[in-house]
Formats: sequence, C-alpha cells, structure tokens
Amino acid sequence: MNKLDSALVSSALAQQGYELTDKATDADVIIINTCSVREHAEDRVFSNLGHIKHLKKDRPQLLVAVIGCMAQRLGEELLSHDSVDIVAGPTQIDEIPALITRALAEHQKQLSVTDEIRRQPPDERESELDDFEVAYDSDKHHLKSQAFIRVMRGCNNFCSYCIVPYVRGPEVSRPPAVIFEQARRLAEQGIRQITLLGQTVNSYRYKGARIYTLADLLEQISEIEGLHWIRFITSHPGKFEESILNAMATLPKVCPYLHIPAQSGSNKILKAMNRGYTAEQYIELMDKARAIVPDLAIAGDFIVGFPGETDEDFQATEHMIRRVRYKNCFIFKYSPRPGTRAEQKLADDVPAEVKQQRNVRLLEVVNQIAEANNRVFEGRTLEVLVEGPSKKAHLNKAEHLNEPQLIGRTAHDYIVVFNGPESLTGQFVNVRIVKTSALTLFGELA
Ligand code: SF4
Repeated sequence: MNKLDSALVSSALAQQGYELTDKATDADVIIINTCSVREHAEDRVFSNLGHIKHLKKDRPQLLVAVIGCMAQRLGEELLSHDSVDIVAGPTQIDEIPALITRALAEHQKQLSVTDEIRRQPPDERESELDDFEVAYDSDKHHLKSQAFIRVMRGCNNFCSYCIVPYVRGPEVSRPPAVIFEQARRLAEQGIRQITLLGQTVNSYRYKGARIYTLADLLEQISEIEGLHWIRFITSHPGKFEESILNAMATLPKVCPYLHIPAQSGSNKILKAMNRGYTAEQYIELMDKARAIVPDLAIAGDFIVGFPGETDEDFQATEHMIRRVRYKNCFIFKYSPRPGTRAEQKLADDVPAEVKQQRNVRLLEVVNQIAEANNRVFEGRTLEVLVEGPSKKAHLNKAEHLNEPQLIGRTAHDYIVVFNGPESLTGQFVNVRIVKTSALTLFGELA
C-alpha cells in the first residue's frame, strides 16, 4: 500500500515539474511516507527527522512532509516537530501536491488528516481519490512491467493489535469498472503483471447492478490482452470464498500464490487477537486451497510474543507452520500500538528476550521447510519475470562474469537469481534451476 502511495505521489509531483533525487542534500522537498504497524517503523521516522533537522539548519527553505499512517495517527503532534512542515494522512494523498504549493507560497505549516477516520467517506471523496489513482498509476516508480492497483481502502476487522483500521478508515471497495479501466490502460502502457491490493483483499465487495467480488475482478481483468500475470494481496483467512480459489484454478493468468497470514497457531491467542477463526479452520482452508489450486504456494505472517503467549501457545504456532508447509513466512515480534485494544487491555507480558528467541526459532523452522521444499525445483525450468540487476553491488555489474546477476520471480513468487543481460528487465524468461536455498533459487537462462 505504501509503495503504491509513494509512487502515486511521485507521479503527481513529476507532472508538476518536480524531479526525484537520490540525495537528501539535493532535495527542495523531502517526503517521508510512514507506517504505523510496528513501533520500530515509527522510531525510524523520528530518527530520520532528527537528521533532517541538521539539513534544515543549513537550508531553512527545505520543505519536509510526513505522510501516511503515522501522519494520520499523530497529526498535530507531528506537525509541531521542528523538522516538519506538512502532515497528510493516507486518505489525503491526492492533496499532497497542493499542500506543498501552499506551504511554499504561504510559508506556513500545513495539516491535512481526517477528523473522524472511521466515518464512511462521501461518494464524491471516493471519486476524487479514484481519479487520482487512475491519473497517476504507472510502472515508472515500480519495477518495470509491473503495477499495483488498489481495489479497496481501509479495513473493518479490528484485529486487537492492529492500528490500520484507525489510520486508513473503513473498508471501501472501488467500482469494478474503474479498476478494469485502470488495468486496461496499464496493460496498454506495457504492464505485464498487475497486483491487486487490499488490506483484506478477499473481502472486496462492490454493490452495483449486482454484487461484485474479488473472483469477478480476477475474471474480468484476466480478459485484458497483454497482461500475463495477476496477483492479489493480502488475504484474510476469515470469510475466504471458494470462488477465489476456483478463479485461481481456472484462470491461467492468476498466479497460484496466496499470502494469507494466520498470525498464531493457538486458539487462545487467535481469540485474543480477534482474528475470527480457529487454527483448525485455518488449516482446513489451506487444505481446501491446495486441493482446488494444484501447486499452490502459501505465504504467511506470524506475530510472536503476543500478550499471554505461553510456551504451549508458541508450540501450537510452530506446529501450524510445519503442518501448512509455507513457502515463506514473515515473523514479527509483538509491539503494542497506541489506541488498539491489545495495547489498552492486555499487558505486554512476554519478555523481549523470549520474543527474540521465538522469532529466531520460527525463522529456523520456516527455513528448514523452505530448504526442503525448494529442492524439488533443481533441474526444472521455470518462467520468471525479471525485476532487474541484483541489489548486491559486487554482483550487479558484469565485472567477473560476462553478464550481471539478475533477480526475478516465478508465478509462485519464488525469487530466482541468474546471470543475463540487464536488457531482460521487465521481460519473461525461462530459467533452468541448478541450485536452491531456503530463500532463493539459482539458475541459468534456458
Ligand atoms: S485484517 Fe486485521 S491485521 Fe489486517 S489490516 Fe485489518 S485489522 Fe489489521
């Protein structure tokens, strides 16, 4: 979501004549797009603002905007920071170019956040945001040939640990016709892979002449010529309809990859998290998904050290990971987020070192499984969408071999590394896998 928001703002500003620069010291305007999901992310923003304070001493005309979830959460408090000139929440991204213009003209701080974030926004406001998304979405600031489309905003789930419903507002599904048109236009511009985004993307539901669901969107977008792969993230295991699995099984463009966080394998913890399902129901859904979608790759998220998590609860999580045999998992240490139910009602009683041990343990288990699973790819040839040169500086130039190391992903979202010309970026190629590890498949251009 944040990557998409940053890309939209960059595109909108580019159209007004702004240029991106890699160096903060060259910038006239610095925009920090923020995340509030974990305390650590917010701490980093404050530390960045501390550095910027020094920059501003030498260049008082430098303008600094803080946008995104933290801006909505802290509002005035953030605006009172010495380094900050503009604060705008995630539901105000379309206003950012105007806020910058106004701050420059009036030499005054600008604040734009939503007062009653849980109130359903009026239709006109939704249309304005839709227009902004349609006007500025492209692959310019994403990976080549790839684009994101937000299909819905906000969340209504209120998981007890989560700040999202309080900073991104209630669930609103965008009209399917607008989404289709956006996808068609992107395909016309050369986009080959579209990722549909939603906080809980499987709850997409639009009431028009009839009710449109995520399965309908997948079916409609599949018909667009030029698009090769369609993905969707992130799914919530509660109320996950079979029609989505059927769409994945029958529509060749829809990638067989499901990112579906369980968060815990313990029913006691799932209840305290207000996740709305049991471990047994989750596992049953995964079994059904694998029965309907052959070769399905499943990725998960888990929180360790949630209030009240005992060794027994933790073992239930470990058991779930072994049972589901995830392709990969993102593991997070619990940190209380101000204003959430968990922060207000539950003591953060798992010591930091226990959270750390559990984090390390789960990563070990996930890696063991992935290492064993990935071996089946050795000797196989896989279709890969090339993302570009490796991020490792010593490998991304053709210094030792004739060609640089490139990175790409398969339809199942496996990361593949191989040597090839940089000109392949954004293209689909076949790669023969020669070696595997827990996180990466290594191959040669076939
Ligand atoms: S589903 Fe739960 S974890 Fe996900 S965004 Fe909504 S409240 Fe947060």
